[in-house]
Amino acid sequence: MNIAIDGPAGAGKSTIAKTLAKKLGYIYVDTGAMYRAMALYFLEQGISPENEPAIMDAADRADISICYHKGQQQVILNKEDVNGKIRKEEVGNMASAISIYPAVRTKLVALQQKLAKTADVIMDGRDIGTCVLPDAEVKVYLTASPCTRAKRRFDELQEKGVECDLEAIQKDIEERDYRDMHRKTSPLRQAEDAVLIDSSELNIDEVVEAVYNIWKKRQ
Ligand code: C5P
Repeated sequence: MNIAIDGPAGAGKSTIAKTLAKKLGYIYVDTGAMYRAMALYFLEQGISPENEPAIMDAADRADISICYHKGQQQVILNKEDVNGKIRKEEVGNMASAISIYPAVRTKLVALQQKLAKTADVIMDGRDIGTCVLPDAEVKVYLTASPCTRAKRRFDELQEKGVECDLEAIQKDIEERDYRDMHRKTSPLRQAEDAVLIDSSELNIDEVVEAVYNIWKKRQ
């Protein structure tokens, strides 16, 4: 049994997916982390996101895998655990810029599909319900207003002591949404059979409960 959660940046997908994975004993697969690891590799190699031939070539050399340590997903890039390096905004923006390329997507989608065959997974991303796991038993499209998502990200960063600007975060989120929704290959969109949840007015427990109820109905 697989659960697919898609939606724009900052909608709360990973928080919900992690909580539900614990509750159901499923493996949580954060696909964004894989795009981020690939983006980190290109950044470290000094490759520009516009340079498609260099991206295609480097995508072949980036060996990405995931493993679990104390229940937490760790992303391994060419034998190095890069979990600590991929959360920066710079890496997220690069991930969004390079995720348009089929060479990048084909490689990561194959890895994601392989993982889903080995266990019950709850996987979050942008194209899980539409492309990676079209037969997932539960599909959710989780969203919230750009303003709510920006505020959540702002609070999260502030809590970590990172200096940030709410307006800049919202602008960033809107640009990323636009790119993710308008790319040619696997754009972010709600799968026809996905349930839409707008979490703007909901707290974490309420969203977890809503997804849990959808899952229960499919049993
Ligand atoms: O979810 P996260 O913010 O970590 O994802 C970073 C970027 O990776 C997204 O903005 C998106 O462009 C890309 N991505 C994707 N497909 C996925 C997961 C992430 O294109 N399944």
